[in-house]
Amino acid sequence: MHAEIIAVGTELTSGVKLDTNSQWLSQRLSELGIPTRYHTTVADDEAANIEVLRLAIARADVVLITGGLGPTLDDLTRPVLARVLNVPLVEDPESLRQIERYFASRGRSMPARNRVQAEFPQGATPLPNPIGSAPGLWIEVPREGWPACRLAALPGVPSEMKRMFKEQVEPRLAGELVIRRATLNCLGLGESQIEELLGDLTRRGADPEVGITAHDATISLRIVAHGADAAECERKIAVTSAHIRERLGDLVFSEGEEEPEHVVVRLLREQRQTVAVVEAATGGHLLERLLTVSGAEEVCRGGLVLTSRSDVEHLLGLPGLTPPGAVVGGGDTSIRGHDVARRLATACRARFHADLGLAVSPAGEIPLDSAGTTVGGAWVALAAIPTVHSMEVRQTGNPAIFAPRTAKLALDLVRRRLLGLPFPS
Ligand code: AMP
Ligand code: MG
Repeated sequence: MHAEIIAVGTELTSGVKLDTNSQWLSQRLSELGIPTRYHTTVADDEAANIEVLRLAIARADVVLITGGLGPTLDDLTRPVLARVLNVPLVEDPESLRQIERYFASRGRSMPARNRVQAEFPQGATPLPNPIGSAPGLWIEVPREGWPACRLAALPGVPSEMKRMFKEQVEPRLAGELVIRRATLNCLGLGESQIEELLGDLTRRGADPEVGITAHDATISLRIVAHGADAAECERKIAVTSAHIRERLGDLVFSEGEEEPEHVVVRLLREQRQTVAVVEAATGGHLLERLLTVSGAEEVCRGGLVLTSRSDVEHLLGLPGLTPPGAVVGGGDTSIRGHDVARRLATACRARFHADLGLAVSPAGEIPLDSAGTTVGGAWVALAAIPTVHSMEVRQTGNPAIFAPRTAKLALDLVRRRLLGLPFPS
């Protein structure tokens, strides 16, 4: 049992509009236990629509079409379906009355050309549109030697499509195997190292399946469980989550959509602690992350974004401290970087009267490989009474993820401190 989604519209194939309907529908289908095997996007072109529909009905058990149900000549879904199914278009009087009522409710009479929207391929069930003029349709197409193909055509307008799918198509498709998903997020190791630690848990075809995706240094483990009902799926997810946590321990920092900044703000609020931030290597990225979390203003006392020209003595009361950006070159840059970050963290904690001071400072250029490539890096430090902890973050791979990665690893120091977990060495 699998589905195909057909998005109809020249505005989609020309790149003027993005097809978001297929993404949404695939997610809903997967919750119903119906995997989507094909996404097809087709222009408002008769021959192309005929070809695509024939193929879809032959190769998919469920076909969902969005778009092409309007009243104009380039709206082809209804006539093309009639042609492919080799049946006439028949006017449905109830649908016609509903379309007339739709226009009347807006103080207008129905334009003559909208009448075609009440025509359906013979054998189809009209699906009323409670918030627009275009009704949809449902039809079960018999196939020789195969179960019938169940097909729904819905309007392209996302709000109409979504409501009609939920209210009228989903109940017709329900009763299949249920799927539930959960996500565990980790930080601190690369994708392949995490995969190695997980071993057979990520085996293809396992139930629940565990997939790994990486986004700006967050490694997400996506668990997908199949079952007869939601409770069975939840039980399977609980067992697999426990196995993952056993293997990864405190590398797992959150579940679902929670990023490190959400975890940190939540923990700070719970523990009535405050933080202040000074960053000299990530251009404000860390503060932005932190401050966009709702409730952050209660726990973040503020922060500073420094450049090599900042007057660190005046801002933080640190006489004799080389401006952070100038700590480049020389024999022992990493020691200097480490020291600068620690002093910045301590000074910012005191200056902002916060419980915790978090600092990011550039580590300068570090020769990394035998080819002589040099990459930047940063020192991150967390000052709390009575200790200061610091850690080096090297810039490897894609430079675009250096700032988010450094910011997340810095925030993770705060999480570790608040939960009493060991710091990474
Ligand atoms: P239609 O039902 O083809 O007249 O489409 C009406 C409007 O819905 C279009 O102008 C688009 O703005 C929007 N639309 C149609 N198809 C999609 C789609 N697949 N994803 C997102 N929006 C769509
Ligand atoms: Mg269209």
